[in-house]
Amino acid sequence: MSENGMQKNMPEKMADFPLGKPNTEYGKYFIGQSYLAPLSMEIVPTFHVTFEPGCRNNWHIHNAEKGGGQLLICTYGRGWYQEWGKDPVELHAGDVVTIAAGVKHWHGAAKDSWFQHIAQEIPGKNTSTAWCEAVEDEDYLKLK
Ligand code: MN
Repeated sequence: MSENGMQKNMPEKMADFPLGKPNTEYGKYFIGQSYLAPLSMEIVPTFHVTFEPGCRNNWHIHNAEKGGGQLLICTYGRGWYQEWGKDPVELHAGDVVTIAAGVKHWHGAAKDSWFQHIAQEIPGKNTSTAWCEAVEDEDYLKLK
C-alpha cells in the first residue's frame, strides 16, 4: 500500500485479521489515520479496525431504542477506551470492552503504538451513532 498511513511505519505483522482500507467514510470523526475491514455483515456487523499511533475517534454515542451498543475485542497493540466522566482505561490485545447503548465514549491507539480491535455493532431497535467533539491533544497527550 502507498497510503499516507505508511508514514508511521506500520508493523510488518499485526493481528491475524485483515487491515482493510483507509477509513475514509468515517475519517472525519477520527484524528489520525485508521483502517476498516468488514469481517461479517450478517446478524452482527463486525469490523476489524486499525489505528496508527495517536489515532483515536471522537467522543461518540451508539444510540438505540432497545438493544444496541458495541463490543470491542482488542487484537493488537496498546490503546485506550474512555467513558465520559470516567478515567481512561488502557487496552491490550485480549481485552474486551462492552459499551452499552447511550454511553458517550471514545477509543483509539496509544500515542506510541499501533492498535487494533474488532468492533461488533450489537443489533437493536433504531440504532444510530451520534458523533460529538474530538478528544483534544491537551487531554490525549497526557495519557501514557
Ligand atoms: Mn464506539
